[in-house]
Amino acid sequence: MEAKRLHLLNELFAPLSPAKRITTLYQYFDPSEVMFTSSFGATSVVLLHMMRQNRPSQKVHFLDTTYHFAETLAYKKMVSEQFGLQVEDIYPDPTQNQLTKDEETYKDDPNLCCMVNKIVPMDAVKVNYKVWISGLIGYQTHFRSGMGIFDENQGMIKFNPLIDLTHDQVKAYVKKFDLPQHPLKARGYHSIGCKHCTIKGEGRNGRWQGNDKTECGLHVDTKPIAKSATDNIDLSSKVNQS
Ligand code: SF4
Repeated sequence: MEAKRLHLLNELFAPLSPAKRITTLYQYFDPSEVMFTSSFGATSVVLLHMMRQNRPSQKVHFLDTTYHFAETLAYKKMVSEQFGLQVEDIYPDPTQNQLTKDEETYKDDPNLCCMVNKIVPMDAVKVNYKVWISGLIGYQTHFRSGMGIFDENQGMIKFNPLIDLTHDQVKAYVKKFDLPQHPLKARGYHSIGCKHCTIKGEGRNGRWQGNDKTECGLHVDTKPIAKSATDNIDLSSKVNQS
């Protein structure tokens, strides 16, 4: 989809609540074109709950790198059962995955490790879809703060319905619905990924400690849609917030 259309969608969806953005998405795209991924990390429960409330039939893809904390897998099981989620696991190639274990690639070449265990297996699934729903939030990293509700990612449309939520709004949503929290949060982990690349810390400070890396690579090919792309488009049919 060309940049002008994506920018138009950004304009139409900006006034909507995240929940309304989710329901409206399916007016523009066929359900078979939509992929939703969750890491079952520190803030994942917000979007998982919103999807359950507004699009319960949407399947959830979970990327199992084989390096997750046991607490993450237990949390995934608990939330999936509580919300009645249909979760499909994605795995890396077992031979290549074993090589990263044998070589402890995550220590000296985390980019290669993420390529083998995250990017390649995810790419194999992405080809089947047009739209990718993710729970990225702008305040999480500087990179994410530049993303829109709709962006382009290697020919796919990235849909980030929570992107403009504040930290307080996320906390308020969790409190309002009394949502279950990842067990490691209470132990000081504020961003939770693979166990070899996650330590305690505020925000994403605990990810890839001692390395410049701040993103696993799944989202870095995302291109924010330039505002100038639709300067001359007449937005005559705004979607109204309910
Ligand atoms: S986050 Fe760490 S362990 Fe997980 S795939 Fe990337 S480098 Fe490997």
